[in-house]
Formats: sequence, structure tokens, C-alpha cells
Amino acid sequence: MKQHIAVIGGGVIGLSTAYALIRAGHDVTLIEQNADVGLGASYANGGQLSYRYVTPLADAGIPFQALRWMLKPSSPVSLRLRANPRQWRWMLSFLSACTRATNRRNAKLLLQLGLEGQAEMEIWRTEGLDGFLWRQPGKLVLYRNAATFMKAVAGIQNTTLEQALSPAECAEVEPAFAHLVPDLAGGIFSPEDEVADSHLFCRALKIALLNASGFQYLQEKATLLPDTNNKCTLTVGGRHFKTDQIVLAAGLNSREITAPLGIHLPLYGLKGYSLTLRPPAETLPTVSVTDYDNRVVYARLGNTLRVAAMVDIGAEDTIPNTKRLASLRTLVQQTLPKANTDHSSDSPWAGLRPATPTGVPIIGRSSCDNLLLNVGHGALGFTLAAGSAARIAKLVATDQTDRVQK
Ligand SMILES: Cc1cc2nc3c(=O)[nH]c(=O)nc-3n(C[C@H](O)[C@H](O)[C@H](O)COP(=O)(O)OP(=O)(O)OC[C@H]3O[C@@H](n4cnc5c(N)ncnc54)[C@H](O)[C@@H]3O)c2cc1C
Repeated sequence: MKQHIAVIGGGVIGLSTAYALIRAGHDVTLIEQNADVGLGASYANGGQLSYRYVTPLADAGIPFQALRWMLKPSSPVSLRLRANPRQWRWMLSFLSACTRATNRRNAKLLLQLGLEGQAEMEIWRTEGLDGFLWRQPGKLVLYRNAATFMKAVAGIQNTTLEQALSPAECAEVEPAFAHLVPDLAGGIFSPEDEVADSHLFCRALKIALLNASGFQYLQEKATLLPDTNNKCTLTVGGRHFKTDQIVLAAGLNSREITAPLGIHLPLYGLKGYSLTLRPPAETLPTVSVTDYDNRVVYARLGNTLRVAAMVDIGAEDTIPNTKRLASLRTLVQQTLPKANTDHSSDSPWAGLRPATPTGVPIIGRSSCDNLLLNVGHGALGFTLAAGSAARIAKLVATDQTDRVQK
């Protein structure tokens, strides 16, 4: 049955949700408070649609590895303890998710969601959604440490979709990184993984939605308040807004939006950085590459190279930290010396990944009968956007008592 659905948030998750709902035949109003869509965490992310590479950060051994990382100035993870109960609660839940069994279970859930997303994205592209520098070059994860490489090889489920490569084979797949061969233990290549520009994807979705009948776009701030009958009321720009159902997809800010309803979302902003380089064309890699030991990702987007990295815990702001950016530039210089020639035009950016402790997003009905949640996609929001959106579109039509959040 056709319904009117309000979606709060114009990042990759909200826009994808709106698109899936329009495709399912509903009327949709998308509410975004910023001047345009895709200016939050979705702006200059790593550009990886790494459907098969979705293992959550929380894993056995990570707390000790994180302590070792702390000693490196270019550490992939930096931790600042704050007198902030929210940070402590999140970290305690994160630590309790750092077991092998929990990691495996959650990796399986994320893989399923990623693969659903890849299939959904293919449908959207086939129907004409374009203009976001999408390519399918495959993803190569490079391992410098033999033990880590062997562990990753042992985790391969399907040897066609994930191929273990020797250092020399890695250089054949992506010659731009060939000079690293002496330092490598090996690599894993997923030929079907994709890359695209997340901000352009948001804009492409907005254009497609504005051309669809039954769609309305509002540049306003949305709030939620408790109502009678176990429902919530949506206000847009301070005015009551009537709608059948609401999908909350406001990234990290979702936790503030649900607080008046007594719904406490376990989200924390994990700060990360990206650089957008404009190297000489012949130095650009084709394949999307992850330098696993440094946790740096490289994706060619058109004629630019997007490099993204680092998790800063305890810095919930989007101010680029000059020391961390300098470390990232040094790492890139060491890894791809020919590509990183002009720092004056490398477009630095910092964003907050809206992360749950387990790395698994919250997708489903809330304790309010008319409110669905599509939040907490952490480091994988672009990869999981289409799959999460398709799940919400299915849920909208189903039983209102099946809740993800009590
Ligand atoms: C450095 C970095 C690299 C990354 N690399 C990758 C990658 O390679 N691949 C990948 O899959 N993921 C990656 N991610 C993660 C991905 O970018 C995020 O998971 C994703 O962007 C989250 O999308 P979102 O729509 O939930 O949040 P956002 O993009 O932040 O969107 C939320 C929107 O809601 C709006 N909003 C908030 N409150 C309100 C309100 N009250 N009313 C109206 N609007 C509101 C905001 O203005 C914002 O536009 C990376 C993230 C970072 C930081």
C-alpha cells in the first residue's frame, strides 16, 4: 500500500533510502538541514564499495594492537580519553565485541548486507543512475605482515571472489604499487569490488529523486518528539509535519534526534581523514588498494586519487588535525612517491564515521510505531547504503511490531 514517508538526513544513507522508497511506489519527503546533500560524513570518504571486505574493527587482539599503534606517530588509531560518559560507554561495548566469535558473526551479517547492496546498486545503475565515477576495478588488499596475511587467507570463503596473491602477482594486478613487492607478504584481490565518488553519488540520487513524481525535498532541520499512541511527531523547521512513517537516517546526529523519545542510540563519531590528490595520470593506480598494515585506502576517482585513513577516538569534531594529516601525507609519500607531489592542492578533509561498537548498523523499527532507523554505518556507509535502503523499503511494508530497538 502506498504511504507517505519522511526521511531525515541527506547523506548516502538517507538519499539511498529515499530512492529505494520511491522505487517501491511511495511518496517521499527528504529533509536535510545543510545547504545541500552529502556534505556530512558522506562528502570525501574513501570511495570504496568494498562489498567483500567488511570485517568490523572490533576483533580479538585489536585492543592490544591498538596499544602498539599508539606508539607510532602515524598510527592508524589514536585514542584520547575524555571525561565523557558516552565515549566510555561506547568503548566498553566496543571492547566486549572484540572477540573472534563476535567478529565472525558480525562480518557474516555485513557481508550479506554488502552483497545485497551490490545487487541493488546494479539495478539502480542499469535503470540509469549515473554521474558518480562508478567503476569496477576490483580491490587489492596488500599485507606487509606474514602472520596477518595468513590469517586473512584462512578467512577466504570463495576463492573466485577473493584470490590470495603472491607479492609478484600483486604487482601484476596493480603495477603502481610494484615497488612495494620486497616489503609484502602477499595480497588478496576481490575482482568484483567497486569504487565511486560518494558526494557525486549523493548528488546523482538527489537529481534522480527531484525528477521522480511523489518526491519532495525540504532544506530544514527536523526534530522528533514523543506523541500519544506510542508514536512520535515530526517537526520540520519548527512546524508539525504529518506523515505515515518516518525513517531516521541523520548519521551521527541521529542520537541527538532520538534522545527526546528516550531512545539512546549507541553511536560514536570515529574521526577519519582523506586527501584528494591530482597526480600525473601515468602514476594513478587502476585497482582500489588497501595498505592493510597502515590501514590506508587508495581509490582512483576520475583523474584524482582519493586516499583515506585513520580512526581518532575522542575527537568528535571535523576540524582537520594538521599533525595527523602530515602523518598521512608522509605515509602516502612512502607508499606512492610519484603520486604525491603537490601538497598544496591535495584537498584535506576530516569526517566522523557514525559508528556502533560492533560495526553493525541499526536498521529496523524503533520503539515508536511510526519510526524506522537506518543509522550507525560507521566505516562502511557507502558500501552498505543501497542494501540498507532496500531493507528499509521492505520493512516499511511489513509488521510494525518487529523492532530492532526496544
Ligand atoms: C575518512 C572516512 C573514510 C571513509 N571511507 C569509506 C569508504 O571508503 N567506503 C565506505 O563504504 N564508507 C566509508 N566511510 C564511511 C561513510 O562515509 C559513512 O558511513 C557514511 O557517509 C554515513 O552516511 P550517513 O548518511 O549515515 O551520514 P551523513 O553523510 O553524515 O549524513 C547525515 C545527514 O543528516 C543530516 N542531518 C543531521 N541532523 C539533521 C536534522 N536534525 N535535520 C535534517 N537533517 C539532518 C546531516 O546534515 C547530514 O547531511 C568513510 C568515512 C570517513 C570519515
